[in-house]
Order: sequence, then structure tokens, then C-alpha cells
Amino acid sequence: MKTIGLIGGMSWESSLSYYRIINETVKAKLGGFHSAKCILYSVDFAEIEHLQEQGKWQEMAQMLIDAARNVEKGGADFVILCTNTMHKMADDIQANIDIPFMHIADATAQRVKASGIKKVGLLGTRVTMEEEFYKGRLAQKHGLEVLIPNDEDREIVHRVIYDELVVGRIRRESKARYIDIIQRLIDAGAEGIILGCTEIGLLVQAGDCRVPLFDTTEVHATAAVEYALGEASGVAKPG
Ligand code: GLU
Repeated sequence: MKTIGLIGGMSWESSLSYYRIINETVKAKLGGFHSAKCILYSVDFAEIEHLQEQGKWQEMAQMLIDAARNVEKGGADFVILCTNTMHKMADDIQANIDIPFMHIADATAQRVKASGIKKVGLLGTRVTMEEEFYKGRLAQKHGLEVLIPNDEDREIVHRVIYDELVVGRIRRESKARYIDIIQRLIDAGAEGIILGCTEIGLLVQAGDCRVPLFDTTEVHATAAVEYALGEASGVAKPG
């Protein structure tokens, strides 16, 4: 079994989900007393959030590069970054380590394509919904058509993430607003919805709407286990 390197803490609420899903998946696949070999480097999210507010992406890139080098030094065989937003710096991280980096959008796109869906709605932070590093990758590298909410809805999705989900607040009102926003994406033609923020799965789950949901936390964590166990089918190859 390969050792999974996780860069987490963005937020720790979702890192907890990663850790649980990774271990549950290893146990389901191998049984008995098996659990995952992994190294978690968890940042102080307040430092990240402060730099995000100031748009200091180069400083954040350096922090994540340092974290990735630490998990590499600790013996990780590959790295996953447990947040969609910070994949804005994915290329900087990969360029500064010698082990593979498994991109969350690649793992997710692979799952979406395997389900036969071509047109997906994307929810996440403003950076994730609006910038090319994420939806551009889904479109250009994977051929998916990506729909994002209108400006007003993007603001709601973004604010709920930072004001509530990353600080562990799960509110029924916010869930209802998300479900309305998802419905508008479905009305616009979305055949499935990517929960492109690693905390959204804490708020909205399969069964809350009538199209498939692709929870990036679950997809990424599962893909990491498949790669760690050397499974060939459905594996999102790092790099
Ligand atoms: N966990 C979130 C994501 O998946 C947002 C927190 C962050 O800014 O990293 O995008």
C-alpha cells in the first residue's frame, strides 16, 4: 500500500471527512484490521484565509509547497491537497516536489465522465467557480460543459462556505438556499452537480436533489485510496 500525503486544515472540518473516508474505504476493500497509511500536514486556516482576503497567492503557494515537501520528507508516495480552491496553486506544488500530485478536478472529472454525464453544475468558492484553473481544466482537459450559478447565487454559495461551513456551522436555511441554487442549475441543463468545495458535502447530500451529486471530498479521497492500493480501473492518475 502506498502512503497518502494529505495537505489539510482547509478546513479541518473537511480534513476529518477525508481521513474518515480514506480509512473506511481501505477497510471496505481490504477488511480485517486494515487502515490507511497516510501523513497529514494540517495548516492553520486563519493564516490562509487572511492571505486569501489580501490576494497574496504567492505567499500561499510557498506555504503549500513547504507543506508538500514536509509530507514528501515524511515518506508520502503521493500528495493530495484537501481543498478545491487552493488547487489554484497546484502547478506550483507539483513543480516543487518529486512525488506525484493527484488533482481534485481530475479525479472528479473522471467520476463525472464514468457516469455518462457531460453537462455539470459547479458549486464552490468564488475562485473555484469563476477562475480557469478549475472549470477550465474540467472543460479543456476533460471535455465537460460546466455551468456556474448566476452572480447573486455565487455570492450566497461563497458566503455560506466562509461564514458557516469552514467554521463548522450547518444551517437548515443555508441548505434550503443551496438546494434552490442547485435547482436553477438543473433548470439550465445541468445533468449532475459538482460539490466543488470540500465542506459542501456536510450541508447537501445525495437525495437532496434529483440529479447525481459529485462530492469532491468523497471522490478525491476514494481516488487516493484506489491509487494507493494500485487499482487500475477508475483511478485518477496523479500528475
Ligand atoms: N475547502 C474549501 C474548498 O474546497 C474552501 C476553503 C479554502 O479556501 O481552501 O475550496
